Amino acid sequence: MTFFTGAFWRSGDTGFADATTSRIFNHRRPSRRPAAVLRAAHAADVAAGVKLAAAEGWQVAVRSGGHSWPAWSLRDDTLLIDLALFTRMSYDPASGIVAVGPAVRGGFDLDPHLAGYDRFFTVGHSPTVGLGGFLLQGGIGWNCRGWGWAAESIESMDVVTAAGELVRCSETENADLFWAARGSGPGFFGVVTEFRLRTRPRFRELTHSTYVYSAELASEVLNWYLTARHELPPSVELAAVGCTPPGIGSPALVIDAVSFDGGPASLAALGTCPVADKALATKVAQPVELASLRAEQLRANPDYHRYFADNAFLAGGASALVPALVPALTDLPTSKTFTVLGDFTPLVSRRPPDMALSVQTDLYFAAYVIGETPGQDARCRSWLDGTMNRVAPHSAGCYLGDSDLTVRPDRIMSDAAWSKFQQIRTARDPEGRFPGYLGTPVQ
Ligand SMILES: Cc1cc2nc3c(=O)[nH]c(=O)nc-3n(C[C@H](O)[C@H](O)[C@H](O)COP(=O)(O)OP(=O)(O)OC[C@H]3O[C@@H](n4cnc5c(N)ncnc54)[C@H](O)[C@@H]3O)c2cc1C
Repeated sequence: MTFFTGAFWRSGDTGFADATTSRIFNHRRPSRRPAAVLRAAHAADVAAGVKLAAAEGWQVAVRSGGHSWPAWSLRDDTLLIDLALFTRMSYDPASGIVAVGPAVRGGFDLDPHLAGYDRFFTVGHSPTVGLGGFLLQGGIGWNCRGWGWAAESIESMDVVTAAGELVRCSETENADLFWAARGSGPGFFGVVTEFRLRTRPRFRELTHSTYVYSAELASEVLNWYLTARHELPPSVELAAVGCTPPGIGSPALVIDAVSFDGGPASLAALGTCPVADKALATKVAQPVELASLRAEQLRANPDYHRYFADNAFLAGGASALVPALVPALTDLPTSKTFTVLGDFTPLVSRRPPDMALSVQTDLYFAAYVIGETPGQDARCRSWLDGTMNRVAPHSAGCYLGDSDLTVRPDRIMSDAAWSKFQQIRTARDPEGRFPGYLGTPVQ
């Protein structure tokens, strides 16, 4: 008999259904269900849960913030270990390192905590995203372009292994686990119970520019964008967003840039667009608060909706990319859908460290199709499939954070990294206690 400090439900128990799905952000939920749910109270509970799963013949699924678009935490015949109670945060001014539980929300919890010390961590754009899934996938945080993947700033982490043992891993301790954890996302074969993250001095000022263009100008704007983006300094996060802006009522292309401590001069290249004078609305190099950018993220990603997401790291010249991107950015299936062509992945020239995350380009495309009722699902699905069919020929791979490999498999690691990942997995989880990816990555 296993005793937990946290709560435990078997299928059929009162409260099981709620414990299984209530913390999942996407309201379009799959039918996969665990055999039992453990809402663990501490690492010892997690270790006991992994051992119970072995005894019962279950695999182990994990949930931190519940923000995986395809709800990876729902797997059949598993013990779902829910880390909702792992919200501890503790900053050490001497080292600049903050210890966080995986259910800490980057924007709503960690950022205010660090602001009190005048420090910053590259948390995700949407403030409700959990750090657990975000960091394991790599993590596209604020100014990822200049500062790198969030996972690059993990100093160490505590992991309950497939054998049910709690170990610390870093560059020097259990380095194989540490390598695999930074980028394997939902394919990771352990449960992270705490991360220790290197923080940086807090930025002093944010400067924001926005140009809203009509869909008819999309081709000209995108041709300009694909060249002009190289003129922006690494402190600028740039995106071309296809959306239906409030007050405009039809799809438009929004060029949006945020500069971290670069000031107005760092955004000057945005004024060089040949059709800049035809923009429907502009906001040029204005000071902005992070709180207002976050509020915009919350508006764009509303709760209680049905989401479909996909993405690709793009490679290729404008003549190939623009024809695929124009409809992807301007012919949207619902008024809440938005698509992004972004310069917010790290500059490849930064040379990220050796870690499982090993596929990227400097140009990222992602689509977030947002419906409100099940009746819209077929249309949303079909639009996303058609869009990705046009975009995928230019894909060098995908970011796990916005992907669903069951629908569109893509490359997630380099060949060498994939082979190393498989070897570590076989050694660390020989019985396949952790179920690995849903769907098959292309390798
Ligand atoms: C509204 C919204 C906005 C987003 N914005 C961004 C963004 O700006 N940048 C970005 O990079 N991504 C973004 N994402 C994607 C997001 O980072 C991923 O969906 C990520 O998986 C969310 O982490 P989570 O812990 O909340 O998710 P969960 O659904 O809890 O976790 C996803 C999976 O990751 C694994 N996992 C999670 N925690 C652990 C753990 N502690 N130990 C072992 N395995 C674990 C498990 O396989 C789990 O099923 C966004 C998603 C949403 C819904």
